[in-house]
Amino acid sequence: MRDADVIVIGGGIGGLVAAGLLARYGRRVVVCESHRTAGGAAHCFTRQGFRFDAGPSLFWGLGDPRSLNPLSQVLAALGESLEAVPYDPLSLYHLPEGTFPVHGRWRDYRAAAARFSPRGAEELAALEQRFMELYRVLSAIPVLGLRADKRLVPFLMRRYPIAMPRMMRHLGLIYSSVGQVADRHIADPWARRLIDLECFLVTTLNARETPVPAIAIMFGERDQSAIDYPKGGTESIAAALVRALERWGGTLRTRAHVERILVEGGAARGVRLRDGEELRAPVVISNASIWDTAGALLAAEDLPAKYRAAALRTPTTPSFMHLHLGIRADGLGALHPHHVVVEDGEDVTVPGKVFVISIPSLLDPSLAPEGHHAVHAFTLEPWAAWEGCERGDEAYEARKRERTEAIYRALERIIPDIRQRVVLELSASPLTHARYLRRHQGTYGPAITAADGLFPSCHTPIRGLYRVGDSTRPGVGVPAAAASGILCANTLVSPAEVDGLLKTRR
Ligand SMILES: Cc1cc2nc3c(=O)[nH]c(=O)nc-3n(C[C@H](O)[C@H](O)[C@H](O)COP(=O)(O)OP(=O)(O)OC[C@H]3O[C@@H](n4cnc5c(N)ncnc54)[C@H](O)[C@@H]3O)c2cc1C
Repeated sequence: MRDADVIVIGGGIGGLVAAGLLARYGRRVVVCESHRTAGGAAHCFTRQGFRFDAGPSLFWGLGDPRSLNPLSQVLAALGESLEAVPYDPLSLYHLPEGTFPVHGRWRDYRAAAARFSPRGAEELAALEQRFMELYRVLSAIPVLGLRADKRLVPFLMRRYPIAMPRMMRHLGLIYSSVGQVADRHIADPWARRLIDLECFLVTTLNARETPVPAIAIMFGERDQSAIDYPKGGTESIAAALVRALERWGGTLRTRAHVERILVEGGAARGVRLRDGEELRAPVVISNASIWDTAGALLAAEDLPAKYRAAALRTPTTPSFMHLHLGIRADGLGALHPHHVVVEDGEDVTVPGKVFVISIPSLLDPSLAPEGHHAVHAFTLEPWAAWEGCERGDEAYEARKRERTEAIYRALERIIPDIRQRVVLELSASPLTHARYLRRHQGTYGPAITAADGLFPSCHTPIRGLYRVGDSTRPGVGVPAAAASGILCANTLVSPAEVDGLLKTRR
């Protein structure tokens, strides 16, 4: 008895990418998503005509099928595309010493940096050279060809006989931290802090803890591809992946919360939903986080004790405090759609020091009623401060007001009279974040540093059980979660099938 060849738990970016590709490879795939909608951290919600993003706000290469962005590559391979609005600069970083426009092209980025620190800008050129060198090396091997088993190297050596040895020569750089590379090229304190901030915005870690590929690829993509934002909000990404899944015969079931992964004789056999329904399949892929998979979806006795303990001990990055606002737009004048407000202090990774503000209705007016804007502002917030709180408690509400106030103060740097403009206010604590994103402690993801090595792979000790998403390789962020889906899907099919897929690329 089998209901599918593959069951995917969760329709986040990693789950949908793995599901879409496996459907494209001819497998019968069912995705069980707990929420009313797919997308996970990248879902949207609507209130009073305002369409709000729940999470990500910064993207590049979405509308460009030649971009290195794994998401764009998957969509192209599945015959789908996204409409995206290009813009530049990516964001305005409001630093204590002034506003820094974050241009995509390196040349413009350095020119803007020179206005703050001529020496820092010069030193950034050396870093640029190292990052672009790696970016070019990595670009020669499409992420769509990657897998997570011992067939990877022979496959790549046969298909990319020139690019592979070049890539191997860069392994030292690939396994370095951004901080180690910066040590060799950047002495200027202003430029060091800027690089810390760039790393923090991707990984929530500082440069010393952030692995080079995450940042080299980001800078490379910003320079070579377009910075853009998905028309219709971030949910358009999931919508495109769901269309692709269904086109290739797969099924998405929403409001289908998986309570337990069924394991028999050391092998995954399917899942049991909250309402008791059982679905059987020889392969189960979990897009839930490493903590949720090991701690909630599997019975303790189904996992080797050592593996389970190590999985549950994986360090977490903090959660978030969010403010979603609907505001009147009259008389606002020229406004940029994205801002990062940085408070004074040495360490940008301290929660509450950096505020991200996105006003996507400036890029896509359909996200807000006429004459209004949709604003999403957030900052990191430690989970521990909220543990044991109950929504509605006096202490909970007081803390929420206090943290919301901090976000308002950051917003006032951009729109001084914002409080008078608000027509809709929704604030969300880490508890809300954890609840709607179905993520352990509402975490952004694992705090795995460059020194710790790579994120865990898609494999688990249970036969037929795999993992995808941002607690697996290569890491956190929409492009990385998409890459994790590719790695997992390709691992489950033969190299010949991957070859076949690569041949269909334009
Ligand atoms: C505030 C914020 C800002 C961000 N900004 C950016 C940005 O600007 N750019 C960027 O690239 N990235 C950004 N990210 C990171 C990025 O959004 C995530 O890394 C990525 O979307 C995670 O994808 P995932 O595949 O790991 O799945 P998730 O998004 O975690 O999705 C997992 C899915 O599984 C479902 N699920 C969980 N448990 C079950 C269960 N038991 N049964 C059924 N379904 C289940 C969940 O409902 C969810 O839909 C941001 C994230 C946040 C939170």
